[in-house]
Amino acid sequence: MQSKIAHAAERKAFSVAIDQILKAGSGEDREKKLEHGVSMAEKLLKDVAPGVVKGIKTGLKPGSKWERWFFDLIDQTDPHVLRTAILNGGYEAGFRGFRTCMENAEDLGCNVPWIILFDPTSACNKHCVGCWAADYGNRLNLTYDECDKLICESKALGTHLFMLTGGEPLVRKGDVLKLAEKHDDCLFNIFTNASLVDEAFCQKVQELGNIVFSVSLESYEASVNDGRRGAGSFEEVMHAFDLMHAHGLLYGTSTCYTRANTERVSSDQFFQLLVDKGCRWAWYFHYMPVGEGASADLMPTPEQREYMFHRIREVRGFEGGYPIFAMDFQNDGEFVGGCIAGGRIYCHVNARGDVEPCVFIHYSNANIRDGAWVDCLKQPMFQAYRSRYPWNDNMLQPCPMLENPTILPEMVKEAGAHCTEYVTPVTPESIEERTAPYAASWAPTANKLWLEEHPTGKKVFNDGVNDLEPEEKVRRMKANDEEREAVLD
Ligand code: SF4
Repeated sequence: MQSKIAHAAERKAFSVAIDQILKAGSGEDREKKLEHGVSMAEKLLKDVAPGVVKGIKTGLKPGSKWERWFFDLIDQTDPHVLRTAILNGGYEAGFRGFRTCMENAEDLGCNVPWIILFDPTSACNKHCVGCWAADYGNRLNLTYDECDKLICESKALGTHLFMLTGGEPLVRKGDVLKLAEKHDDCLFNIFTNASLVDEAFCQKVQELGNIVFSVSLESYEASVNDGRRGAGSFEEVMHAFDLMHAHGLLYGTSTCYTRANTERVSSDQFFQLLVDKGCRWAWYFHYMPVGEGASADLMPTPEQREYMFHRIREVRGFEGGYPIFAMDFQNDGEFVGGCIAGGRIYCHVNARGDVEPCVFIHYSNANIRDGAWVDCLKQPMFQAYRSRYPWNDNMLQPCPMLENPTILPEMVKEAGAHCTEYVTPVTPESIEERTAPYAASWAPTANKLWLEEHPTGKKVFNDGVNDLEPEEKVRRMKANDEEREAVLD
């Protein structure tokens, strides 16, 4: 483990390198200077994220759409916000955090996530149709001290990226700002309906620099969006985008696609609206039939999911599409090695303090109110995940609940985990009943698509890094530190 002094020196060096790269991307002759910045990024990251390096090199070709995206990012984002987000998200969480989490995972014999989602509150100022957050009960809160303790203890194990969900996290705006101010070496991504975003709040976020936003949006048409999210919601989001843009903040969208909205939320009109409003990313989440009364009929059809598979790849392609980084978490599992839950990459803490494998998997044996964070990570439910994944070599079938529905009941039983939906608890077997027909209908398409791209049936990275076990990756990162130091000098 690095000493505090070594960490401070390394952070400083990365900070200088980031400044150089951002400087290269602004001012006169930036197309040329960018080449130098890209080559520096390659030397720093080639053993950490070769896929990212390859993407940067291919994407940032002169005159390309991603070069334009990058220049707009620099021109339109507040310099302090951009630098802080890259330093905290890229260096602290991605580079140093990943390595520290993997080392600790090996030492402790349990998963150590490098991203944590937590719900400061289950309360929300909206009442969207079908929102599962209400299944926890709508009056639950983590106190400021509980959130702070969670961040302190997880930071000690390497985690520096926190995503705040809910409920509506900005119901607790004051505490969110206080946490971000105290933990100025972390990055906070707030999943929000944006209705509570105002001028004073944006001003404070601009000063802090370590908060970004993923805003819920479900249509380019006010009438359709507001049908589920309530009258005036669309205009509130547009107003929030304008305020964030004026303050040079970083933001994108978070959208759940269902059988009822898939085509609309992936339409040209939708992407054009996001680009026009300055969104840098568009996250897509497949509808999950989780929570009391959740309708299995809203799950996308196999045809819609296949359409999303092609559409999102087209939108973020090196050519064509739109200058926005779109990801569909259910179809993009291959880029993160399948299911990321159970602390392998991330986990979720609800507003009652229950530590769950995933925001969609409401079973747990641990609560942050009962003990140390490290003990929560050692809980049987997480160990059940750790000992089993991947449960499917086809990463278009990554989930133990959605595409492999027998796995979740097995893990819950083995772990003796309890349901964390307190309003109306559900058994994992009843979830299996909801998802099994979907899994069976998706499997043929998933197999066809997977074998078209991966004829061996397995994802082969062939980059000398990504096929390695995490411990080996960490060992190689250490071995390359000298070379990295030379670049940073
Ligand atoms: S449990 Fe399912 S939804 Fe959650 S991260 Fe894993 S694959 Fe995704």
